Order: sequence, then structure tokens, then C-alpha cells
Amino acid sequence: MTNSPAERLSHINAAIAAAAGKAGRASDDVTLIAVSKTLGPETIAPVIAAGQRIFGENRVQEAQGKWPALRAASSAPVELHLIGPLQSNKTADAVALFDAIHTVDRPKIAAALATEMKRQGRMLKLYVQVNTGSEPQKAGVLPGEADRFIETCRSLHGLELTGLMCIPPAAEDPQPHFHMLAKLAEKHGLRHLSMGMSGDFEAAIASGATEVRIGSAIFGHR
Ligand SMILES: *Cc1c(COP(=O)(O)O)cnc(C)c1O
Repeated sequence: MTNSPAERLSHINAAIAAAAGKAGRASDDVTLIAVSKTLGPETIAPVIAAGQRIFGENRVQEAQGKWPALRAASSAPVELHLIGPLQSNKTADAVALFDAIHTVDRPKIAAALATEMKRQGRMLKLYVQVNTGSEPQKAGVLPGEADRFIETCRSLHGLELTGLMCIPPAAEDPQPHFHMLAKLAEKHGLRHLSMGMSGDFEAAIASGATEVRIGSAIFGHR
């Protein structure tokens, strides 16, 4: 790829709008999260300058190291989403830095987030991650346990959930996984679906994705 990340960003925005249109949806119904994990400020800053305001990171510590300065240099507010696993001892840092967490997947994290959001007076958007492929190495609540976990988050911990998130198995057709997530969200009255990456965001949008998480198609291969 010879284009710059800022040029690729505009192609991705056009592709998102086209996929939304094809699915009979408004283009502003789908939000692009630019995944900037592993990349340095010199690569990210031009993408902020090109108008992108929502970024995803998968490690709390890495994000702490680069985002305070990037945010201070930005002329407009930048929203940060944690899309990687959260350890409970990082909860306070995560609540202080991020605006959304896509990886709520166990009672201990739900409890820690409830306590910490109250303590800091910050309400984050929270997504329950579902391991739709039941992969042993992957984070997320198992599909058979999702109903109970969502109820626990709401009733026991008083969390207001925004939506659901999944990462389909790499070697499978993602469509059944997107469909499973959409069904589950509908059942629980959750409107937001964080699903779709560089290789499958168009299929995700066809299945109702409201947040797509795109890294390499913007920034190049890591
Ligand atoms: C890295 C990552 C992405 C982006 O993947 P690309 O294939 O580079 O678009 C999306 N979601 C999660 C959870 C990731 O870790």
C-alpha cells in the first residue's frame, strides 16, 4: 500500500458508507473506531488531523504512554476505546483514560468497573465481549453463559450496558458469528454491536454492526 493512513482513512469511510447504504442503513449509524495499537504518535497524529476522533487500543499501559500527549495536541476531543482484555488491577487506570470498554467478560471485571466508575464519577460505555466461536484461547463470555452474565452485570452490579462485542474465529465465515451477536443483543434490548475488522467490516455492517474496529486497512500491516 502506497497511500498514507489519512488517504486510506477516507477510503474506509467511503466503504463504510457504501456498506451501510447497501444494507439500507444510514451511514452515521456505523461508527469507525481506528485501531492504533502498536503505532507511535507520529503515525497516529496525521489520522487525527484528517478528522478521525475515535481510536481503539488493546493495552492500558501502552495507551497511557501515548494518548495524554496526543489528546493534548488535538484541536478536538478524542474518544478512546479499550478493545483488548482488561486485568482487574488496571481497572482504575482504564476508567480514568478510556471512554468505552469493549471487553467486559467476567463478574470480577464487572464489579471492579462498577466500583471504579462510581469512585471516579465517570460513566463509560460498556460492551460485553462474547466468545461466539467458543474458542478456548479467546476472551469473552461463552454464548451459553451470556444471558446470565448480562443479567448479572445489570442487576448485581448496576451496570448500564451499551452493547455486545465479538471477534469471530479467524478461519471461519464470520457471518454466523455476527448474526449470533445481533440476535443476542436484540434479546437483551442492546442496540450497539461492536463487530467487524479490516477483513470483514462490510459483512459486519450487513449484520447490523454499529461500531467497526479497523486497524491494518488504515495504518497498514503491523
Ligand atoms: C487489532 C484489533 C482489531 C483491528 O484489526 P485489523 O484486522 O487490523 O483491522 C480489531 N479488534 C480487536 C479486538 C483487535 O485487537
